[in-house]
Amino acid sequence: RAKEIGRDAVQVFTFELADRAHEKLERQEELRRALAQTEFFLQYQPQMNLVTGRIFAVEALIRWRHPERGIVSPGEFIPLAEETGLIGPIGDWTLRTACRQNKAWQLSGLPPIVVSVNVSARQFQERDWVERVAAALEESGLEARYLELELTESLIMEDVQQAVETMHRLEQLGVHLAIDDFGTGYSSLSSLKRFPVGRLKIDRSFVQDLPGDSDDAAIATAVISLGHSLQLRVIAEGVETREQLDFLRDAGCDEIQGYHISRPIDAMALQALLCLSEC
Ligand code: C2E
Ligand code: MG
Ligand code: MG
Ligand code: MG
Repeated sequence: RAKEIGRDAVQVFTFELADRAHEKLERQEELRRALAQTEFFLQYQPQMNLVTGRIFAVEALIRWRHPERGIVSPGEFIPLAEETGLIGPIGDWTLRTACRQNKAWQLSGLPPIVVSVNVSARQFQERDWVERVAAALEESGLEARYLELELTESLIMEDVQQAVETMHRLEQLGVHLAIDDFGTGYSSLSSLKRFPVGRLKIDRSFVQDLPGDSDDAAIATAVISLGHSLQLRVIAEGVETREQLDFLRDAGCDEIQGYHISRPIDAMALQALLCLSEC
């Protein structure tokens, strides 16, 4: 009897595994199709300078318009894209699209802004990554200083030596670098000073309970002063309320991004928003 139950359990287990493997293969196939048929699109979220009130940059965020499932967010497909290596071509598409779009805004007469693009570890570690960035700039005609790349601490810490070298080559190209989700990783202070980055992005998890949560208030304040002592600008992400904005401004934070300013929006809507505030 025990043997029988055991056998059944094993059977259920293998069926489940096979099911899961099958589902993963299907998802992978779907991702490939999405890329081939351009089911991906970018939205752009404004970043505001807290002193001038100006929108000076936007973060490009990828979405997937799935034929049956509707709009799928990056959290649901970027991990699989990373696992399967599809992040290479998807990342290239994102980079090129963001550069081309930013150039198009400039050509339409808007004051130039920086477009910030998220980079996955696997992408960043590709041998020809710097050349791909250069190609995206060349092809779009966008000047390097209007592109920023967002790297995470964990990406950098996977191989600090290599990462610092690549970062220097990107710096030579003239693109800006930022550390995303700052505070959630574990980059040491001694390595931080070696990174040629211009900005730290305080992770949303430290912002959402401001100003009430005294731990988060202490962390946000500390990151701002750490950034400033290293001559870096500091931006807070996920700012949703006026109270959070006020706290961050009082704490000396340079810039903010979040629903309080705007959700991520389509290129057309962003153009209208910039035009309203600048034209
Ligand atoms: P992230 O780079 O930290 O991007 C910020 C995320 O916070 C975005 O989620 C954005 O929509 C969301 N957000 C912004 N303001 C607020 C706010 O006030 N409140 C709340 N609750 N959320 C806010 P999204 O677009 O779902 O992206 C999630 C993550 O997926 C990104 O985190 C980034 O790590 C990754 N990602 C997005 N686009 C790309 C891409 O093109 N390439 C790669 N490699 N990763 C990407
Ligand atoms: Mg980001
Ligand atoms: Mg972030
Ligand atoms: Mg992130």
